[in-house]
Amino acid sequence: MGRKRVVLLGATGSIGTNTIRVLRAHSDRLELTGIACRTRYRELADIAREFKVKNVALSDKDASEQARQSGLFDADVRLGEGPAGLEELAALREADVVLVAVVGTAGLKPALAAIEAGNDIGLASKEILVLAGKFIMAAAAKKNVRILPVDSEHNAIFQCLQGIKKRDVSRLILTASGGPFLDYTTEQMRSIEPADAMRHPNWSMGPKITIDSSTMANKSLEMVEAHWLFDIESQKINVVVHPQSIVHSMVEFIDGSILAQMSPPSMTFAIQHVLLYPERAAAVQEPLDFSRSLQLDFQPPDLDRFPCLKLGTEALAAGGTAPAVFNAANEVAVAAFLENRISYLDISEVIDKTLQSVSISEPHKLEEVLAADTSARHAAGEIVAGYDS
Ligand code: NAD
Ligand code: MG
Repeated sequence: MGRKRVVLLGATGSIGTNTIRVLRAHSDRLELTGIACRTRYRELADIAREFKVKNVALSDKDASEQARQSGLFDADVRLGEGPAGLEELAALREADVVLVAVVGTAGLKPALAAIEAGNDIGLASKEILVLAGKFIMAAAAKKNVRILPVDSEHNAIFQCLQGIKKRDVSRLILTASGGPFLDYTTEQMRSIEPADAMRHPNWSMGPKITIDSSTMANKSLEMVEAHWLFDIESQKINVVVHPQSIVHSMVEFIDGSILAQMSPPSMTFAIQHVLLYPERAAAVQEPLDFSRSLQLDFQPPDLDRFPCLKLGTEALAAGGTAPAVFNAANEVAVAAFLENRISYLDISEVIDKTLQSVSISEPHKLEEVLAADTSARHAAGEIVAGYDS
């Protein structure tokens, strides 16, 4: 059997870097055939040289121009640019699995291009399922393409669901670390600065998802992600706070048994599982060590102190374009918070006001969710502008 050929979108990010570690350790089984990022062409050139990658793309046009002039890429490297460059990579014939790990919804079109070309997807970019899960899952089913979850919770559930009958599942239980402000009072939350929210206790991740973890908006996005990935009703998806991030999620069966997947809090475990699936191999880092004492704590989430989780749960229950509106408003609010334009507690307020001001409907075409996304971003932008003065 030949090596599995991997295209990595978002190669310079947090997930991208962990993926490179896995690829390096399993070069006998995995081959990197395409890489893309937004602007960091120097890092991309290092990866291209190390793995002899010939298909490269930069979504930023200025960066791809600089990359061309830099002389850092070998002459036989095909250097694509713009969103189309990413789509071309995703649809490469010489690819078996496309790992989508770009921030936000930039991965949507590339993911659809991969499906159209019949390439399996390793999915880290949860936002694209929140936006367009209905259409992505339908397209994947039609083309018989696998969507393998990289997000640690969903990867855990995916592993727990192997070989079971769907009718035997009673609940999916997503674990949440609770983030750096788990024990903060609402009063203390008032003065949180971007730098405080960027310090996650267990995970080192990109800025957007780090803020989302601190507000628990991330868990809202993950509930929607689970709904689409596993085709399960929203009421059967629960969240439990587990500060150690060792149990990555659980599946409860109708007879009361619960299966959990555990590993240390590093994305390399889930990434490797997806890339080698259905095979397994030695991990790139040490597994759990039970020769030392180990505590696992669980507690219910506090929806009053974490309103982003409440709003997201409601958006999932409302269905239709509501999760897309939630996601768009959250992206705008997080960007505004990182620019010091709104306060930490305003993030959930912006989402709430946006959900109230935009009409929700059941989308029948992809264009309809994209339109909902655009109007939600517009509405959230206006709401943010109201805080500026
Ligand atoms: P990051 O900010 O560290 O890296 C993002 C990568 O995407 C970079 O390589 C960047 O160049 C690229 N990128 C950004 N915008 C792009 C665009 N428009 N076109 C092409 N490339 C673009 O982010 P991350 O933490 O690695 O997260 C990536 C995705 O994975 C997110 O959707 C996130 O929710 C998801 N995820 C991350 C983690 C984690 O541990 N970091 C865990 C679960 C899920
Ligand atoms: Mg996760």
